[in-house]
Amino acid sequence: MKKFFIIIITKAITVLLKLLGKNAGNLPGSIALKLDKDIIKYFKIRGKVIAVTGTNGKTMTNNCIATIFKNSGKKVLSNLQGNNMETGIISAFIKNCSLTGKIDKYYLILETDESYVPVLYSKIPLDCLVILNFFRDQLDRNGEMETLILKINKFLETYTGNLILNADDPNVSRLAKANTNNNNIYYYSIDECEESTKELKEAAEGTYCPFCRTKLQYGYYQYAHVGRFECPKCHYGKADIYHFLTDVNVEGGTFKIGEEEYKTKYDSLYAFYDLAAATSVAKLYELPKEKVKQTIEEFVLNNGRLEKLEINGCKTVINLAKNPTGVNVSLKFLQKDQGKKELLFVLNDNIADGRDVSWIWDIDFKNLENVERVITAGLRPYDIAIRIKTAGYPADKIIPCNTLKEAVQTLYETENSKYVIANYTAIQDVRKEIKSYNK
Ligand SMILES: [Zn+2]
Repeated sequence: MKKFFIIIITKAITVLLKLLGKNAGNLPGSIALKLDKDIIKYFKIRGKVIAVTGTNGKTMTNNCIATIFKNSGKKVLSNLQGNNMETGIISAFIKNCSLTGKIDKYYLILETDESYVPVLYSKIPLDCLVILNFFRDQLDRNGEMETLILKINKFLETYTGNLILNADDPNVSRLAKANTNNNNIYYYSIDECEESTKELKEAAEGTYCPFCRTKLQYGYYQYAHVGRFECPKCHYGKADIYHFLTDVNVEGGTFKIGEEEYKTKYDSLYAFYDLAAATSVAKLYELPKEKVKQTIEEFVLNNGRLEKLEINGCKTVINLAKNPTGVNVSLKFLQKDQGKKELLFVLNDNIADGRDVSWIWDIDFKNLENVERVITAGLRPYDIAIRIKTAGYPADKIIPCNTLKEAVQTLYETENSKYVIANYTAIQDVRKEIKSYNK
């Protein structure tokens, strides 16, 4: 009975927040949890739950999967705004359930923060878990990456549902061995392409075999420690690939799955991995190929994930990056651009970002010589300015700004192309400031 009233109250709060123009992404769930920590058990889920987790690319992959399912005519519930902790997922349930807690969507596609996978899916049935990658991220919230992987490994020891794993990330594919009785493991991978390299270029984790500690051998690297690897001693890494992207043309935005050619608006290998994950889910659930192709061709996520805009005639690319690998990928875009360009780096240190900003020292800031100016902002503009100066970039071309308004105004003083990198709590504010900018 108590749970029934909690649902009534939090549903009312959801409506109220909507009327106030807020998105009610976390607060209703947070209140419900405070009133009853087991509130999640009240929901009667009849549909299949597909969860997407990993350090980078969760929102993009999750939203792409949800769009494919919707375009295929399925009834979908999804946390598309990226509220991926327990409070966000419960908020989405509150919004979509009946007063008795029934959720009558056939598919629940849930972006899930890595540390909440064991918490949530020990309480609600999970049909499929998709794991994208593991990188160092927000260390003071998640603890070391290894601790996090071990927690998910522990959860998987008794899980026998579908498990879709990135075969090219040694931190991810090791999880296949958590439960040798699980016969529902599916690997995806991307073939060597023009962007692949024989040598490791950036800071990386997981280059040693997690089972016998031998150094892994790579046929090729895609980015960071992601690539085709194998342990020379115990042969960890050798896997039957279920879903393989070939004939990859990153700049042209095309790849093949089997004989079928797919086209996308994205032109980064990093995004191709998210699309590979999304299309493996579509394959597993036997969604119509033409709907999948059409969705991949049209899909763009306009929320600051490699978002391209034109502001005052200047090409502007905005990307969320909250860990060294994410920033390195964003910087690759800037380095590829041969024209005149500038960088705005917005660094916050709120709790959701991680209070410790030492991760910026693992970013690879070389090759900034063609960048005309670097502007820094956020709650820690000086930390990031010093980091970039230490990498050898001329101090007189670095402009730290105390407000986003000032930063954006400074940025658009010139006509050069703009590249904007912002971390978690900074991204939406900087997008808003840029979009509303007028000379
Ligand atoms: Zn080994």
